[in-house]
Amino acid sequence: MGITIKETQKRLRNKETTPEEVVSDFLSLIKDKNKEMNVFLDVFQDTVQEMKEKDPDLPLYGAVFGIKDNILIKGKRCTAGSKILENYNASFDATVIEKIKEKGGVFIGKTNMDEFAMGSSTENSGFGPTRNPYDLERVPGGSSGGSAVAVSAGMCNTALGSDTGGSVRQPAAFCGVVGFKPTYGAISRSGVISMASSFDQVGVFANTVEDTKLVFDSIRGKDERDSVTVDFNGGLAETKKKDKIVVGVPKEYFVEGISSQVKESIEEALSKIKGKEIELVDISLPHTEYALPVYEIIMASEVSSNLARYDGVRYGREDTESAMKSIEELYMKNRGKGLGTEAKRRVVLGTYTLSSGYYDAYYIKAQKVRALIIDDFKKAFQEVDAIITPTTPTLPFKIGEKIEDPLTMHLSDIFTVTASISGLPAISIPCAKKNGLPVGVQLIGDRFKEELLFNIAEKFEKIWQI
Ligand code: GLN
Repeated sequence: MGITIKETQKRLRNKETTPEEVVSDFLSLIKDKNKEMNVFLDVFQDTVQEMKEKDPDLPLYGAVFGIKDNILIKGKRCTAGSKILENYNASFDATVIEKIKEKGGVFIGKTNMDEFAMGSSTENSGFGPTRNPYDLERVPGGSSGGSAVAVSAGMCNTALGSDTGGSVRQPAAFCGVVGFKPTYGAISRSGVISMASSFDQVGVFANTVEDTKLVFDSIRGKDERDSVTVDFNGGLAETKKKDKIVVGVPKEYFVEGISSQVKESIEEALSKIKGKEIELVDISLPHTEYALPVYEIIMASEVSSNLARYDGVRYGREDTESAMKSIEELYMKNRGKGLGTEAKRRVVLGTYTLSSGYYDAYYIKAQKVRALIIDDFKKAFQEVDAIITPTTPTLPFKIGEKIEDPLTMHLSDIFTVTASISGLPAISIPCAKKNGLPVGVQLIGDRFKEELLFNIAEKFEKIWQI
């Protein structure tokens, strides 16, 4: 495990270390490993200076962030992992970036990702795949693979990602770090490049639940620039039963499709819970089997609409501008050259599901089933404080293993999309190692009950101590 924010903070405040030392430790790791792992697309040179200008009493003092390359930092390049934005420089700070700056945090660079956050392996990046630090032949998960590896390999002590269907939790599980997605509306997306707006959330990577909570508390809250955001009290940490935490184990998550290695690891981890102050109860979320198709349809529909702006007029590639004879040609050349295969596939699918005649059959139907899935969780949370599931159905897979088969690739998201569909907070924490590779467990909480979710996650973290 890399150094935590809390530890860095303590050492800095006690003058056991200096901003120069902290930052140069991270930078030298990046220098050593970035070539083989392809984690950072851009590394910043002004981080030490930034840290020196911060007040040491600020809550995020000592936090050194890797930032997924779909989050805007003023004056820095922001590609979203796409060739179409290869030369795009951000003209303003995302709200989360503003907040980090105000609270004392600094940035060390922009991390690699699947193009426009579409993928589960970071192989869909326009700038080459990122590699898993536990085994360089394997994927780190995606789409926030760069951020997950940055924390896992100790290149920074925390990172931001975005999570639309699992893109923070899934790579966190594959890289053996904590990954958290908040309740929909808890963190502003202003200045975050949109993928599918009814799911998109900013998420946090860290080495511990405590650090994750620290970052979350520093960046959450209402923002006029993102109309779905709300202020809330952090979710009072009240449990359903006095002195006992009730955690539901949904039977639908432990059946088909889950590899024996993951299943065994999680069963073993759960057996360590017995007799503690946590009670595990069997529950059912009956509409789980529809979650993936519902996600795919609504997500692709929203992607097709959000990606329409990359047309070569406002955002485009200079090299295609010169010899254009018509507007169609401009669109075709820019999108044809600038977008990768997965992005194109989703734009085509989403255009189809939104088109007249198919809209009711696909998009509207998917929205109806979405309501049923939300209802499953509402019922479950009348009985339980949290729900526990595997984060991923398999261990980190080999680079190239699933890239030719998008359907198999999408199965990687089977356990993470439900919380996205329902707008619920969810966190992945390491629970075991199998064949030297990390295994993660996902805890899903009730809406705006992140405080309780963090409390529960910390208890599990303490029991497992991975
Ligand atoms: N892997 C999922 C997808 O490709 C989720 C992506 C995400 O959360 N950004 O759609």
